[in-house]
Formats: sequence, C-alpha cells, structure tokens
Amino acid sequence: MTLLLHRDLRRPPARALSASGVRIRTSAGREVIDASGGAAVSCLGHAHPAVIEAIRRQAETLAYAHSGFFTTEPAERLAEALVGDVPGGLTRALFVSGGSEAMEAAVKLARQYFLEVGEPQRRRFVARRQSYHGNTLGALALSGNLPRREPYAPLLGTAFSHVSPAFAYRYRAATESDADYVERLRAELVAEFERLGGDTVAAFVAETVGGATSGAVTAPPGYFRMVREVCDRYGALLILDEVMCGLGRTGTRHAWMAEGVAPDLQIVAKGLGGGYQPIGALLVGAGIVDAIEAGSGTLMHGHTYMAHPIACAAALAVQRVIVEQELVGEVQRLGRRLEARLHQRLGQHAHVGDIRGRGLLMAVELVADRETEAPFAPQAGVAASIKAAALDRGLACYPGNGTIDGISGDHVLLAPPFVSSAADIDLIVERLADAIDAVCARAK
Ligand code: PLP
Repeated sequence: MTLLLHRDLRRPPARALSASGVRIRTSAGREVIDASGGAAVSCLGHAHPAVIEAIRRQAETLAYAHSGFFTTEPAERLAEALVGDVPGGLTRALFVSGGSEAMEAAVKLARQYFLEVGEPQRRRFVARRQSYHGNTLGALALSGNLPRREPYAPLLGTAFSHVSPAFAYRYRAATESDADYVERLRAELVAEFERLGGDTVAAFVAETVGGATSGAVTAPPGYFRMVREVCDRYGALLILDEVMCGLGRTGTRHAWMAEGVAPDLQIVAKGLGGGYQPIGALLVGAGIVDAIEAGSGTLMHGHTYMAHPIACAAALAVQRVIVEQELVGEVQRLGRRLEARLHQRLGQHAHVGDIRGRGLLMAVELVADRETEAPFAPQAGVAASIKAAALDRGLACYPGNGTIDGISGDHVLLAPPFVSSAADIDLIVERLADAIDAVCARAK
C-alpha cells in the first residue's frame, strides 16, 4: 500500500534506502550499480563528503533568500564557476530548479530579446524530431518526443516546428558521405526557415548530443557549424540543450566545445547539481544581456526558487570537485574503456544495431534484425524489459524509445558516474550484456 503517486500505478518501484559511490541499496537488500546515474544525473556518485558538507554549511548559514530581493554567495560563485572563463561569449547564468524550467527560461529570454531589439515578429522556434527538451508545456512543445507529446498535442503551442535530427545510423543513406548528409540537413533547415519566413524565427534548438529520446546520438562532423551558419544567415539565435550531455558528461566541459561552435543560449541541469539538489541553469551570451540591459533593464521571467542558495552551494561543490580532481579527463578515459568493452561484448550481437555516444554517455540500440536495422515492434517493449532484467542483475540503466518514423526504436542508455572505477565499467557491461541476451532470446 502506498499513498505516493508513482508513475507506474500497478507496480511501485523498488524502495531505495541508501547509496554511496556508484551503488544504491534497496529495502529488499539488493545492491544496484547506478549505471545511468539516474537519468545521467549522478556525475559524482552518491554521498560525496565535499557536497554533503557544502549543503550542511549552507543550510546552517542561509537556506533561502528570494532572488528578487537578494543575491547570495553560492549563487554568485556558481555563476563565476560556470561562465567565468568560457570561450565563446556566454557571460551570465540564471539558476532555476531543473532542465524543463531552464528551457522555458531560454525560450522566453529569446523572445524577450527580440522584443527589446525591435524584432517582435520573431516568435517561432525550430527544433528537431526525436528530441527531448522537458516536460512542461513549453518545453514539451519544443520536444520531438512523440509518445510524450501526443496526449497533450491540443495543449501545445503552435510557435514550434521540427526538422530531422542529425542521426546517421537511422537516416544517412548508405551511399551518402557525412558531408553530403550535412548538406541534405542544411537544405531541409533552410527550407524550414524559408517556409516560416526567415525573419520570424527566434531560435533553433537542439541537444548537442542527443539524450534519452534518440539515445546518445552524436552529430556528423560539420553539422553544428552548418546550423550556426544558417542561424547567423537568418539572424536567429542558437539554443543548445546540454541538460544531459553537458558539464563534462561527454568528455569536454561543454559538449559544443567538441563541435567548433558556441551557442547564444545554453541550458544545463542534471550534472550541475549531480542529484544532490534540484538545479538547472540558463547560460546567456553577452549580446543578449546587453540588449536587455539597454532596453527594459529587467528580465520578465522568474520563479520562487530561482538561485536557491542550498542548490547553488551543492552545485558549486560538485563543479569544484570535477575541476579539482580533473574528472573530465577521467570521463574521456573511462568513456574509451566503456566503448571498447561494449564493442567487445556486444559488437557482433544479432540484436545490437548500433553502439554510440561520447565520453560517459553511451547507448546500445536494439534491433530485430541487424542486417536490415529493423527495430523491434513497440508492443515487444524491449528497452523496458532490458531495464527490468538489468535491475534483476543489480544494474540500473536507462531505457529509451525513440519512435523511428512512427515505429518504436529501442535503446538503453548508460551514463555512469565520473568516479566509477575501471572494474565498475567492466561489471556494467557484463550485467547489461547478460540482460540483453536474456531479453532478446525471449523477444525473437
Ligand atoms: N533537456 C534534456 C536534454 C533532458 O534530457 C531533460 C530531462 O531528461 C530535460 C531537458 C528536462 O529536464 P528536467 O527533467 O530536469 O526538467
């Protein structure tokens, strides 16, 4: 009997009692390796003493002060840590409670910017199919995640449209080079801007590395440079969503640093507070801030818990540990090991179509037929079954369902903490491969 409203009303999840490092213990006495850090959240693992101490100290000193009245030390220091020395022009940070709130703030700030600079006709946002930007109505309207959108379609705003994702495994023709594929995506993006009217587009929005909807999809070389060029040509902003892939998760401080472009607005969340507190951030380019400062001088958008001192103190501690212990380098090393082990164990598997990702954000795509790349039928529920089979084997991994051209596409996402050991990585792959073997043998 539970009074808590769980997502699955018929089967409440296992009860987590405690956690340390990369392991969570349940009330049933199980020890589970947190191989996806929840949903790519727990970058430092659990019970990190430096973060616990920072939270305790901040709670004792100043638990809450409304951001409309006061600024606080942890919020100011966190902004410095995030944008103090970032190349590419992001110079200010706004703190909210998570990824969806950060995306709402990005969309509204982009709109406010164009109002302030005398371009009120810019009210449209172009995003991509098979994407996810959050579950609030604005962020969901941007998201190209069909199963999450469909029930709410009548409630979603009409200022948002979608173009193809950059997803080579599924959509690059066998005869096409990466460069040709990028040119095809350029033509589609330009056509969409033209269809909408180029001067009505406020921004193009994309995850730099695809998250749970597409499953750790990295763009082909040159794709984001192409996107930047198209945005610049039409005077639109580029908003990059690094809620899942940012802050070291993919082996660079920001994922866009590996793409040779910088965004005008960027959002981060999950790894920002590492799960110790709910927090997300909007990072904003100097030109946008300057225009608003010279115009109305005030942000129109706000929430009660913006720049929450305890959340900022926790995030500051998390980010300091990442820098001091050089954990982004560790992500690169562990990421190479994870990728190599996945290829060794699953590279030739009859039901593994693709192994992809970057750093410690990796996905395994499951297919009914490796040769034709045909996905499993949606009713087979393969990704969800692998999640359950993995849990039985003491492994928490994140299932995903991308809906490819109206058909389900299953993948499993791995996003282990940056503090995992090499032995943890090997065990993660072993347990995941066992679960995949067991489920695919049944799904045939
Ligand atoms: N953007 C991306 C890329 C995400 O992966 C998520 C969450 O999974 C969000 C936005 C929404 O973040 P939140 O769940 O913190 O609201």
